[in-house]
Amino acid sequence: MASVEISGLKKSFGAVEVIHSVDLQIEDGEFVALVGPSGCGKSTLLRIISGLEPASDGEIRIGGKVVNHLNPRERNIAMVFQNYALYPHMSVAQNMGFNLKLSGLKRGDIDARVREVAKLLELDTLLDRKPGQLSGGQRQRVAMGRAIVRNPEAFLFDEPLSNLDAKLRVQMRAEIKTLHQRVKTTSIYVTHDQIEAMTLADRVVILSGGRIEQVGRPIDLYNHPDNLFVAGFIGTPS
Ligand code: ADP
Ligand code: MG
Repeated sequence: MASVEISGLKKSFGAVEVIHSVDLQIEDGEFVALVGPSGCGKSTLLRIISGLEPASDGEIRIGGKVVNHLNPRERNIAMVFQNYALYPHMSVAQNMGFNLKLSGLKRGDIDARVREVAKLLELDTLLDRKPGQLSGGQRQRVAMGRAIVRNPEAFLFDEPLSNLDAKLRVQMRAEIKTLHQRVKTTSIYVTHDQIEAMTLADRVVILSGGRIEQVGRPIDLYNHPDNLFVAGFIGTPS
């Protein structure tokens, strides 16, 4: 895992600039939430960090190294999306080892790494099951496990819980928090749910219209919002 530093980042689609010179430093092991209304640029920012989308201007550094020219695989950043897209015909162990197999690792080494991560995530008794025989929470852990086996530099989450009902969402939120406490992988978590952001993150970044309005620890944003937008967005009584 590694620090993620963004400086002077801009993005235009055609003639329309949607990210306007964003600067953000994320420490190694930190959990940062990106929040803001729909269309403010959250997903675009994540896609640029992961390498799925090129920046129009500015620099991205991972672990101090400029990565603008690297493709997603070379950046070794794990993206976690809403639908966990596990392979239904493969066992948990095969799902978790699939990317390692693609990268040419030997069978014995793959098995050892999968077992190690499965133990960490308390999936070690479920390795022979198919995804259809798992609960929603267990499936999420398998998807995260599949990413963790590759030892990613960072995790990027794009609204992973937004399709779930309220009860499951709260449960999953707790799972993600526990997971981060165990693996301490640098995480950037996009959500439009300010409560999710405030409960999960070390620091919260408030975005609006492609610009950062404020960055801070949840308690500081709550007690000292810089402007009315931030106050309104996080629901500070004022
Ligand atoms: P969010 O994830 O915060 O809802 P997005 O990053 O998806 O916002 O979108 C930010 C802005 O960029 C929006 O105005 C959106 O319409 C625009 N946008 C996103 N992707 C594209 C694209 N591939 N082509 C053109 N415009 C896009
Ligand atoms: Mg989005």
